[in-house]
Amino acid sequence: MKFASQLVNFNACPSDPFRPVATPIYQTATFEQEHADQFGQYDYSRSGNPTRTVLEEQLARLENADRAFAFASGLAAISSVTRLLSAGDEILACDDLYGGTYRLFSKILHRTGVQVRYADACDLERFAAAITPETRLLYTETPTNPLLRICDIRALADLAHGHGALLCVDNSAMSPYLQNPLDLGADIVVHSATKYLCGHSDVTAGVVAVRSPELAEQIYFLQNGEGSALGPFDSYLLLRSLKTLKLRLDCQQSSARKIAEHLNTRPAVQRVYYPGLAGHPGHDLHAQQARGAGAVISFATGSFELSKRIAEAARIFRISVSFGSVNSSISLPGSMSHASIPAEVRRGRAFGADLVRLSIGIEDAGDLIDDLTQAFERAWAKESTIGGWSTYAVPK
Ligand SMILES: *Cc1c(COP(=O)(O)O)cnc(C)c1O
Repeated sequence: MKFASQLVNFNACPSDPFRPVATPIYQTATFEQEHADQFGQYDYSRSGNPTRTVLEEQLARLENADRAFAFASGLAAISSVTRLLSAGDEILACDDLYGGTYRLFSKILHRTGVQVRYADACDLERFAAAITPETRLLYTETPTNPLLRICDIRALADLAHGHGALLCVDNSAMSPYLQNPLDLGADIVVHSATKYLCGHSDVTAGVVAVRSPELAEQIYFLQNGEGSALGPFDSYLLLRSLKTLKLRLDCQQSSARKIAEHLNTRPAVQRVYYPGLAGHPGHDLHAQQARGAGAVISFATGSFELSKRIAEAARIFRISVSFGSVNSSISLPGSMSHASIPAEVRRGRAFGADLVRLSIGIEDAGDLIDDLTQAFERAWAKESTIGGWSTYAVPK
């Protein structure tokens, strides 16, 4: 079955006598048992819930995983992956990570005795040089967020396996529709399902998908043992949202391309970051390992003040953190989603306070371009009145 068919063709409710087409919400914490000395399939929703099971089986199918697990948030999912390690073990992580992951790794994880090193995962030689005998896990995102840098999943998997380590890839920016890291050799895929998998900004959820039964057993043990699983109602919402993943992303991606090309022509924009543009670093590699460029675009203006005014002048693009929603959003990662990364680290990654990130929704592409045009014009008018921009031509 092709992906589009898989999204809607699955057993929505195994063994339900009424054969519902939509998965029922088993909003129950506990399940009555027939016998006092043995358990049935479900006993307690922290350990397992039928709505969550349908979701997890569907996620495993979409990521070509042995099994997948649904968590209360992306960070809960990522946290469970770090629990595979013990005191003394190390993680080698890409240095351009989501801010919340950076905070988990740098401010919480060391309390358990697990150390995290950072290096540029897009530069294989440098990344390999940062591996130590204690490295148990390589961790990356691709495209990274917010600079949309591309790293080679297959090469990173080989690198990890050559050192007896695992590779975990955060696939939130792509979703299983556009990229399947397990097929490229990764051992673990995580998602902030809050982004494209949900797509409607109404659920926070996370996913861990694994390639082997051994890893599945360990992640299940952690999900149950730490009580971090997704609840039944949110599992239902996520299942419902998943059905339109391809429709949403096809639309978002097609608009994103038009908007990235449009931004490239605006004088106020110094640089556009979008893996679908031919000049983007890693464009060819991305095209080999993914099936689309996604719908997140970043751009730099050279001025924090101008970027802030553009964001505040936009009307359809709403200022909000997160991405992947049916609603378009605009944000300044340096002061919003990535504020938990210290300024000196961000500077080291060539990621300025003026960086603007757009997440393209399903609105009409022409409306979105018009909105950006009026936002640039109004931001520019204000900027001119404070005198900083008089040497520049007024952008179209
Ligand atoms: C949002 C995000 C996370 C964290 O997920 P939550 O659902 O917010 O906990 C992790 N990784 C990436 C790439 C993200 O964008």
